Amino acid sequence: MEDYPRTILEFEERFATEEACRQYLSNLRWPDGFCCPRCGSQQAWAMKRRLYWCKSCAYQVSLTAGTIFQDTRKPLRLWFRAMWYVTNQKQGVSALGLQRFLGLGSYRTAWSWLHKLRTAMVRPGRDRLSGVVEVDETYIGGAHTGKPGRGSAGKSLVLIAVEDKGKKMGRIRLAKVKDASACSLIGAIKKGVEQGSRIRTDGWAGYLPLNKEGYHHMTVRQEATIGDNLLPKVHRVASLLKRWLLGTHQGAVESSHLDFYLDEYTFRFNRRSSRSRGKLFYRLTQQALAVPPVTGRDLKGGDQNT
Ligand SMILES: [Zn+2]
Repeated sequence: MEDYPRTILEFEERFATEEACRQYLSNLRWPDGFCCPRCGSQQAWAMKRRLYWCKSCAYQVSLTAGTIFQDTRKPLRLWFRAMWYVTNQKQGVSALGLQRFLGLGSYRTAWSWLHKLRTAMVRPGRDRLSGVVEVDETYIGGAHTGKPGRGSAGKSLVLIAVEDKGKKMGRIRLAKVKDASACSLIGAIKKGVEQGSRIRTDGWAGYLPLNKEGYHHMTVRQEATIGDNLLPKVHRVASLLKRWLLGTHQGAVESSHLDFYLDEYTFRFNRRSSRSRGKLFYRLTQQALAVPPVTGRDLKGGDQNT
């Protein structure tokens, strides 16, 4: 049963207290009720600081340990507002926008929250594409558009996979790859596309092992140079992605942070037709509990443009 607020008023009324937020997270984390990881007892007292105390063995379980809310000293109410804001901005959000919305004193806090929430947007190893899938790479950053020899200087190579649903596009997956070698490309495809899918690519040698890896590979052109647009869906996504990075993030995306932005874009794109923003909030909250915490080391940087 998916339980979420439909409107801003429902949201405000529902999550007005810490206790209400804690209860919501608890229901998402333990849908069948609390269960002690040590003794299996289902009886616990809710304690301060988001702790549960097992009635049978006295073991203490933290509601937020091992999630992106781990170690936060800020109220859950503020986190809930952040998640509501992030899912209700159709075009995506900047750290400055989030800082203003929440009234946070520190830009740095808003920036790190946003990055933490982005890691919760794509569930690793899940939501893999299937059916007919178009795959190609594109460069992000700089004015370089072609791909002679598929080498690049100072740019990031991003693998784009799009489900082909006839006239429509299905879901996408995006992955930054080290280079256009078979190892990098096939590795990224295996993470994002289910085996058995039909994959359409150009004739680049890096895609040749696809059949061997359990996919049905179809080559749409033999020469691996820019020519006719034979992979229209992938190229459409590439141009939408670049426009979004320019518009929402002023194109100021450091290569080391690109993965976060790709996750955010994927989340928004794959749910672009979702009429309920409340459902996006629900999904993001659920995934925020399912992904491991982001450490300070993963969040280096934080320049004012992010
Ligand atoms: Zn116990």
